[in-house]
Amino acid sequence: MADPERYDGSGIHPEAQRERRTDLLSLTPEDLRDRVGHFMGSRHEPVYRVDQVARWVYGGEARSIAEMTNVPHQLRTELDRYFTLDEPEPARVSRSADGTAKHLWRLRDGELIESVLIPTGDRLTLCLSSQAGCAMGCTFCATGWAGFSRHLTAGEIVAQFRASRRWAAAEGHPAVSNIVYMGMGEPLANREPVMASLMILNQGYGVGARRITVSTVGLVPGILDLARRPEQFRLAVSLHAPDSELRRRLIPLEQRHPLPELLAALRTFDAAGGKRITFEYTMIKDVNDDPALAVRLATIAAGLQAFVNLIPYNPTPYRNWQPSPRERIGAFRKVLAECGVNCAVRAPRGRDIDAACGQLRARALTSLAVPVEQQGEQQDAKRLSE
Ligand code: SF4
Repeated sequence: MADPERYDGSGIHPEAQRERRTDLLSLTPEDLRDRVGHFMGSRHEPVYRVDQVARWVYGGEARSIAEMTNVPHQLRTELDRYFTLDEPEPARVSRSADGTAKHLWRLRDGELIESVLIPTGDRLTLCLSSQAGCAMGCTFCATGWAGFSRHLTAGEIVAQFRASRRWAAAEGHPAVSNIVYMGMGEPLANREPVMASLMILNQGYGVGARRITVSTVGLVPGILDLARRPEQFRLAVSLHAPDSELRRRLIPLEQRHPLPELLAALRTFDAAGGKRITFEYTMIKDVNDDPALAVRLATIAAGLQAFVNLIPYNPTPYRNWQPSPRERIGAFRKVLAECGVNCAVRAPRGRDIDAACGQLRARALTSLAVPVEQQGEQQDAKRLSE
C-alpha cells in the first residue's frame, strides 16, 4: 500500500487531502503532464501512465477517475486521493423545435448553470457559461436579473464542453465546431479561470482559437489581456448602444468603462492583428432601434472593421420591453450596409425553451423560491416539471 503522504510530503490527513484535490479538467496539457508526471514518478510508475490519464481527460471519455479502466485499480484509487475529475449533473435538458438544446447543469455545490448547443447546417456551436449568475446587471438580461452566485473554475467551464460534446454525439449531432462564451456570466470578470479554460480547450481539446469567441460587455483590462495573447481568439462586444448615455441605461458597466475607453481598448485589440471583433446589438423596440443610431454604430464599427450582429430582443419576464419589429430591424440593417459595415440579423434560436442567457436558470430559481404547494399554480413551475 502506497504511503499517502509520499506525493506531497505535507503530512496532511488523507481526508483533508481529498478536499484539496486538483481538478484534472482545470489543467492545461503542460500542467497535467507536470502534476500527474510528478505523481506517477513518486510511485515509480512508467511515463506512459501519464499519457493514459491525458487521453482519458482530453479524449473526453472518462467522467471520473474510476472510469480510466486501463490504469490499474490501485493506482486509480491513489490518483483519486490527489486528483478529481468532475462533470456537472444534468438537471434538465430542453430541446427546441429548431434543434437548439439547452442544458441546465447542477454543480457539486448545487449551483445551476446553463449551456446551449446550437446546430446550424454542418456546424454545432456550444455556448458556455463562465459564472453562476452575473454581477453586471445589464437591464435586458435574465442572468443579470437573477444576480451573482460565484465564479466558475476553469474545470467547470471545460466540463460543460465535455458533457455537451458527449451528449451531442449520443444524439447524432456533428462534433462541436465552435465555442462562444456567451452563456451566463461576464467571462472577463472571471479572467484567470476563463483564460485557463481557453488554453485547455485550444491546446487540450484541439478547438481552434479562431473558433472560440469570448463575449464581454466591455471589461477593458480583460480585452487588453486577450489582445496580448498570441492566439487569435475572437472577441464579441455587447455594445447595444452607440453612445454612452444610452449605453448607461442598458449596461451599468458603462459607468466604470465608458465607451471612449472601451473603443481605445478595442483599437489595441484590433492592432494586435488577425483578431476579429464582432459587435452584438440587441434590438429593443423604441429603446435603441432608431435608424439614426445605426449611423453612429456604423462609424464605430467601420473604424474597427468589426462585424455587427443585430439580435432581436428576447423578452424576459422581468422587463416590459419588446423586440424591434422586423421592418425596424431591416431599416437599421440597411443603414449599416449602406455605410459599408458587414452585418447580419441573428435569427432567434430556441425561444420555445428559454434559450437566451440566464432564462432557464432564472425560471428554475423562481420555481425553487416558491413554496411547493403554490408551484402548481404557476405556469413557470409547470413548465419545469414537464
Ligand atoms: S448580458 Fe452578460 S454581462 Fe450582462 S448581465 Fe447578462 S450575463 Fe451578465
